[in-house]
Amino acid sequence: QAKGAGRNTLRFFDPAMQSLLAAQSALEAEMRQGLRAGDFVLHYQPQLDNGGRLAGVEALVRWQHPQRGLIAPGEFIGLAESSGLIQPLGQWVLEAACEQIARWQRDPELRRLSVAVNVSARQFRHPDFVSRVIGAIERTAIPADRLKLELTESLLLDNVEEIIARMNVLKARGVCFALDDFGTGYSSLAYLKRLPLDQLKIDRSFVRDVLTDPNDAAIARTIIALGQTLGLHVLAEGVETRDQHEFLVAHGCDAFQGYLFGHPQHPDVLNTVAPAH
Ligand code: C2E
Ligand code: MG
Ligand code: MG
Ligand code: MG
Repeated sequence: QAKGAGRNTLRFFDPAMQSLLAAQSALEAEMRQGLRAGDFVLHYQPQLDNGGRLAGVEALVRWQHPQRGLIAPGEFIGLAESSGLIQPLGQWVLEAACEQIARWQRDPELRRLSVAVNVSARQFRHPDFVSRVIGAIERTAIPADRLKLELTESLLLDNVEEIIARMNVLKARGVCFALDDFGTGYSSLAYLKRLPLDQLKIDRSFVRDVLTDPNDAAIARTIIALGQTLGLHVLAEGVETRDQHEFLVAHGCDAFQGYLFGHPQHPDVLNTVAPAH
């Protein structure tokens, strides 16, 4: 029997839909609780430049669930976006990444690292987003150019002028931008050249079969050439083998991220990152 406010609204749904909704609202309540309890953590995955040096890291959120253990973002980011919880979660990620940048500023080996933070479209569209980013940079007193925001093409589906204006405000403060999962979504080339981007990230779905699938190879080469035309760095995601790495290097890709170089890991183990191949 449906309870409380749900009694009248849920009766139109079939039982499968009803149990899905119940599971979602349970997860949502748990996420809210997890945010209060400080159960989210950031892991950092190395990004190498074309000389094999550690140039940056990407911050990737995980949920350290008290009963279920470490939960990957694929299991909760979607619900965080649809429920609005992406605002407090995204804010926590931003603050935590800036605090980590501040800690690395005191380490001569790591002080130049750039830290990429994933930003959902809904988060970027929030009216307070720009001031929240500037606030986090000021509170932690970090050089703004150490922070790189990763956006996706889905952000560019509407109100592009407003998006560009916001990006320009942050860019003027020194913040860097990457376009994540590039090639999987819709991007107008006309917009692309107007965005104050620093980097395109080739989605790992193209990298995976880059040696065996001529279409993926052509897409990867085209993205690299596009980056060169637009004056942008191009990073390949999901590099798992030396052969993939060699192919991408040979075609002019200038940054790399993937299990070949390191998994996302606790920030304290970054000092022990293996040298590049
Ligand atoms: P993404 O931003 O494209 O991040 C790259 C994902 O690929 C990460 O998965 C990473 O662990 C995985 N990966 C890296 N190298 C390899 C590789 O060599 N092989 C394979 N198979 N996978 C690799 P993860 O950490 O599970 O994150 C998944 C997605 O969740 C991210 O994709 C991003 O879209 C989202 N996400 C993660 N953290 C945040 C966050 O703080 N905020 C928001 N809004 N989204 C986040
Ligand atoms: Mg990313
Ligand atoms: Mg990506
Ligand atoms: Mg992705």
